[in-house]
Formats: sequence, C-alpha cells, structure tokens
Amino acid sequence: VSPFKALESEVMGQYFKLRQKLEAGAQFIVTQLGYDARKFHEALLMVRHLGYPNVPVVGNIYVLTPPPARLMHRNGLPGCVVTDELLAQIEAESPSRAAAQSAARERAARLYAVMRGMGYAGAHIGGHGLRYADVEAIIERGEELAPNWIDLVPEFDYPQPNGWYYFDRDPETGLNRETPAAKTAPGPKSWGYRLMRLMGHGMFDTTGPLFKPMRAAAERIDGTPWAPRIARAEHVAKVISSECLHCGDCALPDLAYLCVTSQCPKGERNGPCGGSRDGWCEVYPGEKQCIYVRAYDRLKPYGEEDTLGSYHIPPANYDLLYTSSWLNFFMGRDHTAKRLGVEPPGKTEGDRAKAQTQAKPSKAPSTDAEA
Ligand code: SF4
Repeated sequence: VSPFKALESEVMGQYFKLRQKLEAGAQFIVTQLGYDARKFHEALLMVRHLGYPNVPVVGNIYVLTPPPARLMHRNGLPGCVVTDELLAQIEAESPSRAAAQSAARERAARLYAVMRGMGYAGAHIGGHGLRYADVEAIIERGEELAPNWIDLVPEFDYPQPNGWYYFDRDPETGLNRETPAAKTAPGPKSWGYRLMRLMGHGMFDTTGPLFKPMRAAAERIDGTPWAPRIARAEHVAKVISSECLHCGDCALPDLAYLCVTSQCPKGERNGPCGGSRDGWCEVYPGEKQCIYVRAYDRLKPYGEEDTLGSYHIPPANYDLLYTSSWLNFFMGRDHTAKRLGVEPPGKTEGDRAKAQTQAKPSKAPSTDAEA
C-alpha cells in the first residue's frame, strides 16, 4: 500500500485496495517507500481501523543517496516521493560521496527506529549498492535509537504540498489521532455522468423500468443474425462515450462509467496501482488523470465514493471478446450479471415455473382412436 499520495481521491483509492487485500486474506502488508512519518503512521492506523489489528505491517526503508533522491524528486520513479525540502536537505548534507552514503544510512536507521516505535512489525531495507553489512549496521543503529523514537519523528516531516491525510493530526506527536479528518468538498455533478447513470439504472438495474422489456428483447435476439449487428451498434455507441475496446465483459458500471480497459494503461480493475502523482496517471503524468481519481470524483457528489472497491471485479472473460456486452448481461453471461444475480434464461424461478407449466399435459389423451 502507498499512503504517500497528495489527493484525497488517491489516498482513498489506496485504502479501498488495501481493504480488498485484507478481506481476501492478506497475511501481511508492505508499504511503499517514503519519508513522511505521519503517512507511515496513517497506513499502520488504517490497517487497524479496517479491523485487522493482528495483520503485521512492514515498512519500506530506502537508503536514499542524492542520485535516486533527484530521480524520485522529478517523479522519475513512479510512486516514490521526495519533496523539495527533503531533496534540499539531502543535497546539503552530501559534500562528498562518503558523507552522502553515511548520512543516508543514518537517516535509514532513524526511520527504522521511528517505525519500530510506532508499531511496525518489520522493515524492508533497500538501496542502490547496499551490502549485507550496511543492512546489519542500519538495524543495529536503529535498535539503539528506538527507545527515543518519538524525538526523531520531526526529522521525517516531509508532507506533500496540500497533501491530504485520512486522520486528524496529533499536534503533540506530529503523527495522527485515531479520528478521521474532514473530507474535502465534492465537485459538481457532470452532465455526461448523470446521463450514463440514468441509462444504466433504467436498463441494467434489475429494478429499473426497462430491465424486463430489454431482457425479453435480448432473449429473442441472442443467437440470431441480429446479435452481431447489435454488437456493432453497441461498440460504436461506446467508442463515442467511453473509448470502448469491445471486450464484451463490460466494467463500465464498476467504475462510475469509466472504461478501465481503454483508460487505465495497466488495466487495473480492482483499485489503483501505486504510481499516480498529484492525481495524474503514472504512464501519462501531466496528461491524463488516474482513472480511479476520476471515478472517485464522479461518485463523490452522490455520496457513493465508498462503493469503489466494495466488491471484487474478475478479469475480463475473453470468451466474450467482440460480442455484445448488452446481450451478455441480459443473457446472464458477463460478470455484472453474475454479481447482480441475472440468471441465463431458463434458470430463473419464473422460467422454471413456466417450463413446468408447459410440460404438464393440458388434458388426458383421447382413447377414441383405440376404441
Ligand atoms: S490509470 Fe494510471 S495511475 Fe491509475 S491505476 Fe491505471 S496505470 Fe495506475
């Protein structure tokens, strides 16, 4: 999990995914590397807050020398954050290579002590050119410093500009209280999304007014020469609305009517990767927002942002590739139909009752001929 995110939508995306991992039985959690003690503390509190106090959390310590610090500072290593202040500090303490390495190891040991003090179960220590002896020395020094860990917290006070934290700040320690902080105000409702919601509810919600007629029509069309024509028409409409790639197992309803297949370069169906920065996708920084940031922002004005990550989305079923996802839904074949309990025709209780009625003889066969 990466708590080192600036926007509420990014932070929450990380924690929705964390919740899914814990619910799926994760036996331990490892954080992204970082240098903000309050964020490390937040990730630890979040695992408890989600109801998993016994799941061990391992903190990621990267022994940070000037070259990787510069790389991370310019977002050259997605998800690894080095702020202006931290870079300035690292440059100032590095008059020589030896001094830089010594300062980096000391910082790593201090971070180890802070993590140990706040309750981390272990540390993943890494760094360029690190030897076993270096790791051992960092652990030994960290253990030595651990009893006074709280005094070291101010050395890891590198928040991102306007960074959002899930919990309220504790002014005494510089870490967090266990009370959730206020969320930011929701943005405006977009007209495009309003329209998609309206159509989605009308046709694909099992209680929607058009669900039954659409399903009846789908039963008549499926398997006829009309089915590929419907697939083509659907594809054209969805290319215009959602840059559809015609997977046939549509995930638009799962992500606020945004297509994860075409608009997330990694096709992340169950929560964001760790690489976004300031809301931008790690593959297109400054060009495209992360799809999970967009989905969160679309859902928030409706108070539905917590529905993200509330169920598992399976991989696209490639048996359905280039077929109509509308037909696949109404015929009970795609993942959304399975999630909502839309059974294939002939399998619903109504269908079974109908089939039984049809199978019953209406009257006894005549015996006139025999007579
Ligand atoms: S849109 Fe980009 S940043 Fe967001 S999950 Fe996909 S690859 Fe990661």
